[in-house]
Amino acid sequence: MTVLTFDESCIFCKILNKQAPASIIYEDETLMAFLDIRPLNEGHTLVIPKNHYVDIFDIPEDQLSQVHKVVKQVSVAIKKATNSDGISIIQQNGKAANQDIFHFHVHVVPRFEGQKLPSFSALKEVERTKLDDMAKKIRQQLKT
Ligand SMILES: [Zn+2]
Repeated sequence: MTVLTFDESCIFCKILNKQAPASIIYEDETLMAFLDIRPLNEGHTLVIPKNHYVDIFDIPEDQLSQVHKVVKQVSVAIKKATNSDGISIIQQNGKAANQDIFHFHVHVVPRFEGQKLPSFSALKEVERTKLDDMAKKIRQQLKT
């Protein structure tokens, strides 16, 4: 990783710059994983590259591979931490696909037998202390 590109109007770039709060699960020089503030389920995590790539059309293949390597690791940790039955990996590209934040991100969502997911628009913000507690649980599983 040489140059990081930032978009000042982007909330994810602000989180990466530590200008906005996040309950971080994993961070290295190229990417970060943190809890979604409006989760579909407890433990709902976002994995993002540190460079401001807009979508699947913008992100280079090697960066995409890096992101998905961590998606795999985080999925295993979230499944253990939440005791979920499954994991959904969701990734939207473009307004037509309901992309909400235009900085490439992969949703990792714990799923439970028989449970239907609410729509993204119906979701509410969760308190930071709750998110921090869950982030800690997932980080513990990531280490083992
Ligand atoms: Zn950004």
